[in-house]
Amino acid sequence: MHFFTYKNGELFAEDVPVRELINEFGTPLYIYSYGTLIRHIRAYEEAFCEVPHIICYAVKANSNLAILRIFAELGIGADIVSGGELFRAIKAGIKPHKIVFAGVGKTDEEIEYALKNKILMFNVESEAELYKINEKAKSLKKIAYVALRVNPDIDPKTHKYIATGLKSSKFGIPIEKALDYYKIAKSLKNIKVIGIHKHIGSQITETSAFVEALNKILSLYDRLSKEDLDIEYVDIGGGLGITYKDETPPHPKDLADSLIPLIKNKKGKLIIEPGRSIVGNAGILVTKVLYNKETDTKNFFIVDAGMNDLIRPTLYGSYHDIQPVVIRKRPKLVADVVGPICESGDFLAKDRELEKVSAGEYLAVMSAGAYGFAMSSNYNSRPRAAEVLVKGDKYALIRKRETYKDLIKNEIIPEELL
Ligand SMILES: *Cc1c(COP(=O)(O)O)cnc(C)c1O
Repeated sequence: MHFFTYKNGELFAEDVPVRELINEFGTPLYIYSYGTLIRHIRAYEEAFCEVPHIICYAVKANSNLAILRIFAELGIGADIVSGGELFRAIKAGIKPHKIVFAGVGKTDEEIEYALKNKILMFNVESEAELYKINEKAKSLKKIAYVALRVNPDIDPKTHKYIATGLKSSKFGIPIEKALDYYKIAKSLKNIKVIGIHKHIGSQITETSAFVEALNKILSLYDRLSKEDLDIEYVDIGGGLGITYKDETPPHPKDLADSLIPLIKNKKGKLIIEPGRSIVGNAGILVTKVLYNKETDTKNFFIVDAGMNDLIRPTLYGSYHDIQPVVIRKRPKLVADVVGPICESGDFLAKDRELEKVSAGEYLAVMSAGAYGFAMSSNYNSRPRAAEVLVKGDKYALIRKRETYKDLIKNEIIPEELL
């Protein structure tokens, strides 16, 4: 079942015509489908139901409070990478005892904030961080629960910016050092080691990388057991890919089928941290065509959404399908879809075959729910887009479009220096 479909040549978000949302909220506009979010969460829940597990949604993929609230209602946990994400997760009602905290650069303030809120565990990424967390826990008279994030040195065959489990990456602890670090962690008075963590990258489209990585951390798990270091949580990270174009990523069920046999007989709970595969195809970005422009060599559709709204095409060379909001069956042409920003990297699509839409018509950039709005900025002093959630034939604004006033609200002109 798909929730962004055409009816009589017109794009719908669930049961609402996208045009109606554009009329009410303007463009650029992010539109999310509630039904898709629920379906994706259920797919994970059902796939892993055989083993004790917690789904910790990776907040960074899409951190809108309303979306986090949907997950909170379903009893989902969170994978966070900053104090700001912890703040959001708690505000949305996600239970701290289901929150795991990763990231190579946790600050003193973030560690204290997480300790005070009694999160499930810190996914520790270096030896120095272990000492820091121990010291902070001691000063607060608390015990910090930790997992060590192990870098299993695996090539997930994805874009180099989103491969995180290779030896050369900044993430985690080299697997060959892990045993030593676990021993150090065990010796620290205000730390209790309860887990093992890995996250090898994002937009992974084969189960083999997940299997290989899990096997590596399970052999460490076995060695730790022999050293009386009992692991209660095996956190396998996120990273399952989605279909942007013609990828055929595994379904959560395929992932579960290949991983469950490996862990079924281990003690402890599995943690999964999906981000993209939950929200990616649950959102679209709608944009208005401002101008058509032809040069000797190229056609351009100049639209009102830019790289500040969706940076993935230029940052990762990512493909996003682009569809007219209303299909008029005109001849197609090959064009670049570009934004108004003063950068040559400001494009949403290159050399794309598209129906020849005219100024004033609308395009939908598909699969924009993950790392879309979350990565948006105010570059070129562009107010950030509005976000809308659709559920059946109902919808609600979940983030107001920013105003010019919002752009300057934190800025100060220091009259005394001028
Ligand atoms: C980004 C991230 C995730 C989520 O990755 P997706 O590819 O969006 O599923 C999970 N865990 C950690 C530690 C991450 O940094």
